[in-house]
Amino acid sequence: RSLFAAVELAPRDPILGLNEAFAADPRPQKVNLGVGVYYDEEGRIPLLASVKTAEEARVRQAKPRGYQPIEGPAAYTGAVQRLLFGANSPLLTEGRVVTAQGLGGTGALRIGGDLLKRIVPDTTVYISDPSWENHRGIFEAAGFPVHTYRYYDPSTGGVDFAGMKAALAAMAPRSIVVLHACCHNPTGADLGEAQWKEVAQACVAGELVPFLDMAYQGFAEGIDADAAAVRHFLATGIPFFVSSSFSKNFSLYGERVGALSIVTGSRDEAERVLSQLKRVIRTNYSNPPSHGAALVADVLASSELRAQWEEELGGMRRRIRAMREGLRQRLEAAVPGKDFSFVTGQRGMFSYTGLTPEQVERLKSEYGIYAVRSGRICIAALNARNLDYVAEAIAAVLR
Ligand code: PLP
Repeated sequence: RSLFAAVELAPRDPILGLNEAFAADPRPQKVNLGVGVYYDEEGRIPLLASVKTAEEARVRQAKPRGYQPIEGPAAYTGAVQRLLFGANSPLLTEGRVVTAQGLGGTGALRIGGDLLKRIVPDTTVYISDPSWENHRGIFEAAGFPVHTYRYYDPSTGGVDFAGMKAALAAMAPRSIVVLHACCHNPTGADLGEAQWKEVAQACVAGELVPFLDMAYQGFAEGIDADAAAVRHFLATGIPFFVSSSFSKNFSLYGERVGALSIVTGSRDEAERVLSQLKRVIRTNYSNPPSHGAALVADVLASSELRAQWEEELGGMRRRIRAMREGLRQRLEAAVPGKDFSFVTGQRGMFSYTGLTPEQVERLKSEYGIYAVRSGRICIAALNARNLDYVAEAIAAVLR
């Protein structure tokens, strides 16, 4: 009997299956709204000019490829801290925050989960309902039971804030709460400033462990504005975790550049926490890859490249907004009497359209437009060429 005789086939990743079906579809007008990446107006993943310049300079320098520090180079982790917490935050001079490079935002979540398993082994992790699907998998893989808290309100396309607060209030002390810092995936429904303050206070009152996931900094309002949630938690003085990613805002998906930051109570705590985090990393992959993180550090260290990056990021943000406006206008014109304000109220790359699985199926079979069964569409996959067609098709299946 083979060693693998009893191995079952794991379920396929639904989005990968969607991409395969899309690739095999011969219709020229087909559109893939199921993707999780930012596409430019030409329907391509951009290579940012700021990144390209930094990369060319690196190639010219032709540096040797030694191992990196376990937590990643200080030029990188320091840059991450300034983006998340603000360049002038006293947190940085107080030495209370620990940052380690992660293999993308995903890897950062996972080393955070593994570390938490050593610190609070018997607790529960709560993720939003719905959430990015991998949140559940990552924290289950780290050994935690994963439950959900109320979040999305289908009747408004926004957040069920009363439901969320009630859920937070009912959690046991030391529960880990995963919060999307901005541009909620998959719904696009974010909390407002005042709501963030309340959530931060609820975490203080309930002695919860907040874990902010920041995968889209700069995609909603701007670099600092999008870090508002992080800053509110900072103001509370309680310890919290932040996973962050440069996959989207630097368009560096395949380089796997992210970071885990942990805000602690003192320099001494930070030192001990970092020593444990290094153990987690050392036994996973020893130390992180150098190239992508070096590009990010180089861009953020140069005033010209940094300004260019901010301009390029602003361009991505403005294009997403323009696509939201365009989609909303077209849907309102085509389906009079129906409220589509949620399309522009939601933020970031994704929108929960409220389309049913049957309507999503019709979009695919009748129009060659591919979306996730939940009705999530990627706004960044829209462009001037496909916007009319997509809006007409959505209107047709809604009528
Ligand atoms: N967290 C959320 C909410 C995401 O949407 C994503 C990516 O889709 C990630 C984390 C992971 O990002 P990365 O590709 O950097 O691992």
